[in-house]
Amino acid sequence: MQKLLIGNTWVEAQAGRSFETRNPATGELLCRVAEGDAADIDLAVRAARKAFEGPWRTFKPNQRQNLLLKLADLVEENYEALCVLDTLDMGVPMRRTLGNRHRVVNTIRYYAGQAMSIHGETIENSLEGEYFTCALKEPVGVVGAIIPWNSPLYQTLKKIAVCAATGCTLVLKPSEEAPLTPLRLAELCLEAGFPPGVLNVVTGFGATAGAHLAAHPDVDKVAFTGSHFTGQKIIQASTGNVKRLSIELGGKSPNIIFADADLDKAVPGAAMAVFNNAGQICCAGTRMYVERSIYDEFVARVARFGNSLRVGNGLDPDTEMGPLVSEKQLERVTGYLKRGQEEGANAASGGGRLTEGAYAKGFFVAPTVFSQVSDDMTIAREEIFGPVISALPFDEIDDVVQRANDTIFGLGGGVWTRDVGKAHKVARRIRAGTVWVNAYNVLDPAVPFGGYKMSGYGREGGMHHVDEFLQTKALIVNTD
Ligand code: ADP
Repeated sequence: MQKLLIGNTWVEAQAGRSFETRNPATGELLCRVAEGDAADIDLAVRAARKAFEGPWRTFKPNQRQNLLLKLADLVEENYEALCVLDTLDMGVPMRRTLGNRHRVVNTIRYYAGQAMSIHGETIENSLEGEYFTCALKEPVGVVGAIIPWNSPLYQTLKKIAVCAATGCTLVLKPSEEAPLTPLRLAELCLEAGFPPGVLNVVTGFGATAGAHLAAHPDVDKVAFTGSHFTGQKIIQASTGNVKRLSIELGGKSPNIIFADADLDKAVPGAAMAVFNNAGQICCAGTRMYVERSIYDEFVARVARFGNSLRVGNGLDPDTEMGPLVSEKQLERVTGYLKRGQEEGANAASGGGRLTEGAYAKGFFVAPTVFSQVSDDMTIAREEIFGPVISALPFDEIDDVVQRANDTIFGLGGGVWTRDVGKAHKVARRIRAGTVWVNAYNVLDPAVPFGGYKMSGYGREGGMHHVDEFLQTKALIVNTD
């Protein structure tokens, strides 16, 4: 059984309980994992507080940098094995994660650099008398990170890296659907030399361990990534001690294809904007707006692309799309597929679960492109979190911008055109935290990522991210 990490010691849950984690491609049991709840969170927060008030405070920026550089080396050395764990636990194709090696390792090295770049400012004042005034930057304190299952390796690394860079300590609550990679990463952090209590990992369920962490009076900040329903609960739970929050939630992102786009690039681009990770990406470009003159041809080509994708077990190097993470997600996604067809959409590709042969035991859904979709259909409004594209025709820019923005979300968006002026105009008008032009899902650790509207607030990546884990303290010194 996999245990909890508290104060650099691997321990069973106080209540002695555990839960199963299974391979979504085969349904096989992978192992049991300790089921932490409120009592374990209390211990982890205590360990994180002790580290924060204790030796971790005395670590110089270069020492924190060295820890992160060591961790980056270890992640690089162990990269394939970490990818295997992600695939076993949540189904992502190895083909996808192996291709992200450079970005993942670079992310840790980017934050290692940030550790030595944190600085406050001196401020000229107009006070009577002699005063020195400045703003200091200090770590925010004990951070609770609650993460989802769709990208366990990357999600965990970002949280660990920003906390170590800024001098915070961390209690991490991985998703119950994919706890294994975070636990292996925690082992690598110990190997890198993280002192006791700087990183604590409590596996368990959202309603128990997660909710207790979100409400804990001795946690200074919560960084949450997940659904907007849970995000709202986290915000409510934060009010007890007025916690700082970073909240990254879901999306229903528009991907706008103009007739003058390079269609040979736009077809795979628009398809993989959703089929990547079987649609289990918060910024997936699920509302595909296509200029009417090319609508039929473009939808047919994206549907053909979907039909040609190799769907299967992510461990197979040829697999391009894996299963959904769980039976619960399978039911959710197939429910939307049914609803789409009931409301009058036409499945140009896919449209249902895959059940033949090797698919029978896993949670596989066919890459689906719906045509004949209108903006008010459920499949065009709600986040599905599966490989489902809603294709909608448009006639002109004002119309498509207004429709693209007519959503409660604002996480991502795409524009495909060869006209650079049009690209800029449309990109500026989309109300979302990231807009890609002639690309989709491209991320860099130095570039901020986050949401407008109900996709959350706060940014991951770049200086904005680092600043969210820092407090600002004014220092006013009478020098007379
Ligand atoms: P998804 O499962 O779609 O990623 P969730 O928002 O349900 O989205 O889960 C994201 C994370 O939030 C998981 O780690 C989950 O355990 C946790 N979680 C779920 N409910 C709560 C809650 N009420 N309070 C705190 N954390 C929660």
